[in-house]
Amino acid sequence: MEVILTFFGLHWFLSLFFHSLFLHRYVSHQMYCMSERTFKVFSVLTYLIQGPSALNPRAYAILHRLHHKYSDTPDDPHSPMQHANIFRMMLRTYKVYQAIIKREYPIQDTAIEQQIPNWESFERFANRWVPRFLMMGIYFLVYLQFAPSPIWFVLLPIQFVTGPLQGAIVNWFGHKVGYVNYRDLGDHSRNTLPLDLITFGELFQNNHHKAPHRFNFAHKWFELDVVYWVSKPLFWVGVLKPLPAKA
Ligand SMILES: [Zn+2]
Ligand SMILES: [Zn+2]
Repeated sequence: MEVILTFFGLHWFLSLFFHSLFLHRYVSHQMYCMSERTFKVFSVLTYLIQGPSALNPRAYAILHRLHHKYSDTPDDPHSPMQHANIFRMMLRTYKVYQAIIKREYPIQDTAIEQQIPNWESFERFANRWVPRFLMMGIYFLVYLQFAPSPIWFVLLPIQFVTGPLQGAIVNWFGHKVGYVNYRDLGDHSRNTLPLDLITFGELFQNNHHKAPHRFNFAHKWFELDVVYWVSKPLFWVGVLKPLPAKA
């Protein structure tokens, strides 16, 4: 039981950490700097840790920038205001995401596609299904070996879709449930406590929409952006670097 709980917990936390720190705060928003080599290391780590449902960084960044630009309008790829339930929203997000990967999605604003750090050969490999099925097989074997009873296998499908599931939780609840610090944004973004206890800062959507380039998503004394604090040591040792001060 301990092995399965540890595997599930570590997979959830580390997937979310790389999702938030790398895909969201770096690839989509470039809130800080990293070297080319560090970018490649983060690309591989994010892929391996997210596992079977690893998200394509370029498609993720475009999807996310579309969300910021068209927040909660019909052009938003994942607004709960435009869908009857979370599954319909996820289906629409998946369709837009796939169209972006195939470069078939019409993007009107060219700025959305610009300055996205990209490692094309690795992304081509990462999009393949064979390594994803292999990772699913490894996860299945872990459960087969360590699950104390068949009921534990209900956690397995969650681990197969962790990346998109974490995105959907943030996108649905972060624009539907919670309190508002800033009312002048023209969207439905919310700060969703206490659900943010499992999303480590990402559910301060109202704060993040107010200041999309601010690295710390917590704006009030009672808010805590876990990813912001956990990533601090990476800045202290120079793996990640703050943006240069504007002249
Ligand atoms: Zn949002
Ligand atoms: Zn964002």
